[in-house]
Amino acid sequence: MSRSDPLEKYRRKRDLDRSPEPAPGDPRPERKTPIFVIQKHRASTTHYDLRLEVGGVLKSWAVPKGPSTDPSEKRLAIRTEDHPLGYAAFEGVIPEGEYGAGTVMVWDIGPYRNHNRPDEGEDAPPPLDRQIDDGHATVWLEGEKIRGGYALTRIRRSGDGEQWLLVKMDDDEADARRNPTSTENRSATSGRTMDEIDREEEPTSFEHDGNDDDGEDS
Ligand code: MN
Repeated sequence: MSRSDPLEKYRRKRDLDRSPEPAPGDPRPERKTPIFVIQKHRASTTHYDLRLEVGGVLKSWAVPKGPSTDPSEKRLAIRTEDHPLGYAAFEGVIPEGEYGAGTVMVWDIGPYRNHNRPDEGEDAPPPLDRQIDDGHATVWLEGEKIRGGYALTRIRRSGDGEQWLLVKMDDDEADARRNPTSTENRSATSGRTMDEIDREEEPTSFEHDGNDDDGEDS
């Protein structure tokens, strides 16, 4: 079969003998529903990578300022190559000299669902791969930091590149006063800060709100 490899670009950009990033085929996090992940990536500039599990890969966008919880904020999102599903669990350091060199944190992760309306005369919304191809997708995210409806809209295509906007939809999870990219700085999976990931350290203890038994004694 000559079906093209959706991860060809992912492989081509990386030397997986030198980078600890997951290889295509590495296991996906064990979750039943489709997952989204937002990785904080301290590379030449710090940005956030939004990835949605669609059709066996992680559709990906680099969001320079990260997601907002304020529906009046439009965040630029630059489409990047599809990533393998195992990437959703990746946290670590991409060595200097390699593509994307720098520290990667799983800043938020959780289930998500298609949040679009059905087209007229249809029962179900269009599948997400089609929404993304068509340049407008709406999803409902259920992370620890980021929740509710988000709209992704393509605003420009040039050559191989695509610019999109990521905008919080106006729903019960919208909150113009929150600013999670500046106030919530720990990994959703390991509890570590960027510096702790950098130094490959265990998390320092979480700050507590009165409950001092977190079951850890180290
Ligand atoms: Mn990145």
